[in-house]
Amino acid sequence: MQFAGKISLLVLSFSQLALSLRKREDRLRFGIKKSKLFCSPLNLHYLCTTKILRRNRNMGRVLIIGAGGVGTVVAFKVAQNPDVFTDIMLASRTKSKCDAIAKTIGVNRISTAQVDADNKEELVALFNSFKPDIVINVALPYQDLTIMDACLECGVDYMDTANYEPLDEAKFEYKWQWAYQERFKAEGLTALLGCGFDPGVTGVYTAYAAKHHFDEIHYLDIVDCNAGDHGKAFATNFNPEINIREVTQKGKYWENGQWVMTEPHEIHQPITYPGIGPKESYLIYHEELESLVKNFPTIKRARFWMTFGQEYLTHLRVIQNIGMARIDPVMYNGVEIVPIQFLKAVLPNPGDLGENYTGETSIGCRISGIKDGKERTYYIYNNCSHEDAYKETGMQAVSYTTGVPAAIGAMMVLKGLWKKPGVFNVEQFDPDPFMAALNLQGLPWHEQFNIDLEL
Ligand code: NDP
Repeated sequence: MQFAGKISLLVLSFSQLALSLRKREDRLRFGIKKSKLFCSPLNLHYLCTTKILRRNRNMGRVLIIGAGGVGTVVAFKVAQNPDVFTDIMLASRTKSKCDAIAKTIGVNRISTAQVDADNKEELVALFNSFKPDIVINVALPYQDLTIMDACLECGVDYMDTANYEPLDEAKFEYKWQWAYQERFKAEGLTALLGCGFDPGVTGVYTAYAAKHHFDEIHYLDIVDCNAGDHGKAFATNFNPEINIREVTQKGKYWENGQWVMTEPHEIHQPITYPGIGPKESYLIYHEELESLVKNFPTIKRARFWMTFGQEYLTHLRVIQNIGMARIDPVMYNGVEIVPIQFLKAVLPNPGDLGENYTGETSIGCRISGIKDGKERTYYIYNNCSHEDAYKETGMQAVSYTTGVPAAIGAMMVLKGLWKKPGVFNVEQFDPDPFMAALNLQGLPWHEQFNIDLEL
């Protein structure tokens, strides 16, 4: 009787929600097309849980820190989901950028503020006045720890899209943020780390593969292709300083229980991307490898591949050769400047690239392992068009594919679906509601089974 009651409540909740979604303005708000409404049991699960949880929780005040390309997409996406994000604040170093974004989005639930996220006292004052339920950190990785400290002091959940790295050393590792585990646990707060696309969706894809398609994952290759053209001789798709620090470091991958180091861009090969074709792809180190090999110990080898054009690599080499990638201060006309920070000031702003960007990105996981005693290969990926991302948010697909998962991650925490005390990487949570939300929020995924993975 009780079970039958629950089922009918579920069916009723879903049909009520489906009815309300038929209204055009709701479809627009959720960013979904009519045909996608009834597409999969996963989406049904997500929509029903959404409705039930919405009755039980008063969600949710969100504070976004960082008003760059990614921050803009996050602000758009949280504004499109007013049932989850009831009050929104966008804060950054330059308030005028926040104001401009809020004006473009044009809903009156977005307030703005100036904050220096390197300064914990300023953050605490801001948190105490706005009283957020969650902070989405899409400023720079240098600010991760101060924002986490302020969250602990004010009792606020935390999430970000890039792991901490010290300003004076181009080295990113989870150790600094994992060290907050006991403090977040003791306060009953959640810190969700690395919830963009990579890291982020790539971890959720791996968790989804492990849950549904493999008994043991043995080989994981994350493949990241940007086949877009922004028409500039040289530009980076996200913060130039962070991007150049990342791609110029030595390569590193996991094999048989240890890290193997390579020279920068030493290993490369063509990989065929769906709808794009073959692109030269370079083995680089990427931060999600560190948490994935820890959380999925059956992995024998884990690698990350990224496509680069020849023109990009030539510029990068010149930038390094002439000292413009240096991260240590130099004196110029009696003033101390950091060359890579000066370079950022003269390069195109990634947030302004969208207008003439054509082509698409394709990011996914190529996995092999064992299911029911048999070997299996599996490829899961998303392709995202720069033009479509621009039409929706005014940003290119790299900002879009980072900002959408960040908004979904915050949704998961606010709805209580991914709410646990402690510090977590995305793959440590149930991937199903997140995967369903990806389909609904603009980043649909595709699967291929038992294909030649090329790797
Ligand atoms: P941008 O440089 O465009 O934006 C960064 C924003 O943070 C700017 O608005 C900047 O302010 C603000 N900011 C910087 N320092 C401070 C500070 N001390 N206090 C307050 N605000 C500050 O970067 P993106 O939007 O391209 O990237 C944002 C983040 O997303 C980065 O950490 C990046 O590594 C991450 N990322 C993650 C990806 C993933 O898939 N996981 C992919 C791409 C990016 P101002 O405007 O004044 O300079």
